Amino acid sequence: MQRSTGWGLIGASNIAREYMVEAIRAQAGHEVVAVASSSAARAEQFARDHRIARGYASVAELLADPAVDAVYVSTTNELHHEQALAAAAAGKHVLCEKPLALNLDDAVAMVRACRRHGVVMGTNHHLRNAATHRKIRKLIAQGAIGRPLFARVFHAVHLPQHLQGWRIAKPEAGGGVILDITVHDADTLRFALGAEPVEATGMTQSTAMAQAGLEDGVMAVLRFDNGVLAQLHDAFTVAHAGTGIEVHGERGSIFGRDVMTQRPVGEVVLRTASGEHLVPVEHENLYVRGVAAFCSAMRGEGAPAATGEDGVRSLAAALAVAEACRSGRAVPIAPLEI
Ligand code: NDP
Repeated sequence: MQRSTGWGLIGASNIAREYMVEAIRAQAGHEVVAVASSSAARAEQFARDHRIARGYASVAELLADPAVDAVYVSTTNELHHEQALAAAAAGKHVLCEKPLALNLDDAVAMVRACRRHGVVMGTNHHLRNAATHRKIRKLIAQGAIGRPLFARVFHAVHLPQHLQGWRIAKPEAGGGVILDITVHDADTLRFALGAEPVEATGMTQSTAMAQAGLEDGVMAVLRFDNGVLAQLHDAFTVAHAGTGIEVHGERGSIFGRDVMTQRPVGEVVLRTASGEHLVPVEHENLYVRGVAAFCSAMRGEGAPAATGEDGVRSLAAALAVAEACRSGRAVPIAPLEI
């Protein structure tokens, strides 16, 4: 009998705890066999809490485990690069959290290393797995709104207390709302529009929540190569704004309400000359769907929902927004050779 495909978790993180252990376990023939943390106590505790066979106090030990075929990297952002390179070199498939890295060279190196070692690489951009966003992409591609001209993303939320750690205090760990949320907006817009961002501008805000020069709010504009202008509003500090995405075209508008979220909720409304109607969507768990695509890719069937290249491109857009906010100027996003 063929053994299960074994996953090793790199990072005893919240996102692993809250969503990803379950998403991996939902796949037939896949199991979580190990977790690595920089702290032996945390590794053991996480392993115990989640009935995982082995907890390791180093990534090297986890990568030396022959039962590990694939890794899910969900450490803080500055660690993704070296951990993904090590995993690829050990012949493990790599599903990595966003942002892939803190700079583009590192992110590109991760994708190239996975390619060179013949392992699959994916980026855990969950939103493109939402039934709502997939429906929005389909409507646009079918011409339901004619030529798309503008988009607006509403992704200002209140960062829950238990996540108010490195995100708001540690620039060196890749904190700040741009690397946390804007990077998701960029991926979602690329996915929905089927277009690439080519220019960014924006301004940040820092309230008492973020420290050490980090931003906890941003308003930005991305110009896409199909001419669309997209306005983004991202924050850690706003409890009651609600989330959404709108795409406005020459012949109609699409409204995705309550859709910039980890949960399988929200609605899609299409408004055209013939009126307004609710577009049916069949919700499903975003993370389960994303991991399923990654598992198929490991079997040689199709590609991950968001590839490593997608992760590089969303990072390029987020870094351009950050640079535009710093410099006060519009920043071009150059085409990338990955
Ligand atoms: P966490 O803060 O929960 O975990 C990050 C790291 O922090 C862990 O790897 C762990 O290190 C360390 N850590 C955890 N608990 C403690 C503690 N008590 N004391 C000291 N260190 C601790 O981060 P998140 O789960 O929020 O985010 C992890 C990654 O996932 C990030 O890259 C983030 O951007 C991404 N993310 C993606 C989401 C998505 O939907 N795609 C959603 C949320 C996050 P160690 O492993 O060494 O124990």
